[in-house]
Amino acid sequence: MPDNNSGQESSRTSWQNPVAGFGVTFANMFKKRITEQYPEYKKPTAPRFHGRHQLNRHPDGLEKCVGCELCAWACPADAIYVEGADNTDEERYSPGERYGRVYQINYLRCILCGLCVEACPTRALTMTNEYELADRSRASLIYTKEELLAGLTEGMVDTPHAIFPGMDEQDYYRGLVTEAAPGTERQVARSQGEEMPVDSEPAGPADVAGTSPGTSGAGGGAGSDRASGKEVRA
Ligand code: SF4
Ligand code: SF4
Repeated sequence: MPDNNSGQESSRTSWQNPVAGFGVTFANMFKKRITEQYPEYKKPTAPRFHGRHQLNRHPDGLEKCVGCELCAWACPADAIYVEGADNTDEERYSPGERYGRVYQINYLRCILCGLCVEACPTRALTMTNEYELADRSRASLIYTKEELLAGLTEGMVDTPHAIFPGMDEQDYYRGLVTEAAPGTERQVARSQGEEMPVDSEPAGPADVAGTSPGTSGAGGGAGSDRASGKEVRA
């Protein structure tokens, strides 16, 4: 049965629709306008914002990454590439048996979901609040280990160097190592082929690191790119 009111109903909606359609526009026309002054002013992110990744270090400068590849396996976007390698007494980058020799994150693929961080067993991988990841070339958006590795803070010495004398890998995770052993800088300088004056710094336990478990003969190893003191983004 035809609805007698349908004509009246449709004329009312046809009159109301444009008004309703512009309702949001009208409502916003009288609101205070906010212009973000980016990039002059960068609005602080939420504390747990998912930004660029960082590879962390132990308090003495050794790397936390053990090259296990769990982050790469967890990544839904296949954005992480890891190659692990064995530490040696002459060239040590992490306290344990293995370290991440090659580490890359492809920010053309990464969706900043954080699953890789959840998968990491050593808290080597975390995310910073840095969000400015645009660049002019595809290659520059594949971040290398040197770019991702955390900078050195007070008490840290760049790798490679021996573990803290008298400590083992577990002690690092128990928080017993709080800074580099005295004399660790001397090991790094030697690994770079630099001549150090004998009395330039006091001899320390790291100079006799062979007395501690698993740390024999840390000085005099071959140099590496990372040992060259290249500036890294923290
Ligand atoms: S944040 Fe997500 S997408 Fe990006 S590398 Fe980690 S797991 Fe992969
Ligand atoms: S970042 Fe963590 S999960 Fe990834 S390879 Fe290193 S230790 Fe393993």
